[in-house]
Amino acid sequence: MRIIDCFGSSRPVYSFEFLPPKTEDGVRTLFATIEELAGLHPSFVSVTYGAGGSTRALTIDLVARIKRETALEAMAHLTCVGHSAVELGCILDELQARGIENVLPLRGDPPRGETRFIPPADGFAYAQELVRFVRPRYSFCLAGACYPEGHLECPDKDEDLRHLAEKASSGVDFLITQLFFDPQDYFRFVERARTAGIEQPIVPGIMPVTNVAQIERFTQMCGATIPPALQEQLDAARDDEEAVIATGIAWATEQCQALLAGGAPGIHFYTLNRSRATRTIFLNLQSSDDAGTRRHADAATGPALSASPPPRVSPAQRRGLTP
Ligand code: FAD
Repeated sequence: MRIIDCFGSSRPVYSFEFLPPKTEDGVRTLFATIEELAGLHPSFVSVTYGAGGSTRALTIDLVARIKRETALEAMAHLTCVGHSAVELGCILDELQARGIENVLPLRGDPPRGETRFIPPADGFAYAQELVRFVRPRYSFCLAGACYPEGHLECPDKDEDLRHLAEKASSGVDFLITQLFFDPQDYFRFVERARTAGIEQPIVPGIMPVTNVAQIERFTQMCGATIPPALQEQLDAARDDEEAVIATGIAWATEQCQALLAGGAPGIHFYTLNRSRATRTIFLNLQSSDDAGTRRHADAATGPALSASPPPRVSPAQRRGLTP
């Protein structure tokens, strides 16, 4: 199934992102997570491509196995790092031969310790070049990455958006954002993207905080901002693992509710291969959906770019204790 066909119905497009594990044990744990999350009936799941192309075979095998052994649709990420155009063509041929219909073409990050991305010999410098390579040769549904707070390497946000518009018009079907924590960043970004002529659905990417040091590292690496209110809550909970998880669940629940109420077409969860936080947030969303959040959004006219205040969650939900 092409993922783009999931958009446009009244049900939000929910998706879960996984990382390919490097050990057999890791694969077993991941499949347990996938089985748990499959019961939530996401629209699709996706599997990342390791830095430096290190997980090439793992990514393809995992996506093919998810499609073969579960009822889930799965998307393979693919980066330009370390590959010539010919090699990328071979990988795309294999994806196609194994029945994979959805691909997220990315540029990838510079290798550790380097600040600039050096394009591989006979390879591509930007994701848009990979999109332009794929589009006329293959029938994949293509996603693209985007950055509500701007991409770190391009301080001029207007220029960054121009590059995104070029990538989108090269043949991307829908976009998924980098992680962020303030719904207003998403709404402002969508408004700017629409003004720049980007018409594709833009799915917010949400990472529930489960570990303070880890999220501080991630946000530093990708240029996302932890809002002061969240930072304060995390600082208070820092040494208490359960309190951190509960804080992360409560924040992400309210964030997702605000995003969906304001017109976001779905939510892409960065699961880090763990199910608990994502599952709790997802169930929180379903219960608030039953309470009318989605109906409220559906009743709104137009793309609803102005954020409604986030609906409240109960104290028990806040702690992630009840669906
Ligand atoms: P691009 O769209 O190419 O943009 C990169 C930079 O180049 C931006 O600053 C942009 O403004 C600039 N640029 C673009 N076109 C031009 C141009 N023509 N001229 C000048 N400058 C230009 N990384 C992985 O290694 N594996 C993964 O599986 C993975 N999955 C991801 C999934 C999502 C949803 C997201 C948001 C990110 C993911 N990443 C992954 C991280 C991603 O590889 C990095 O953020 C990387 O730095 C940029 O990739 P991109 O595809 O967005 O690049």
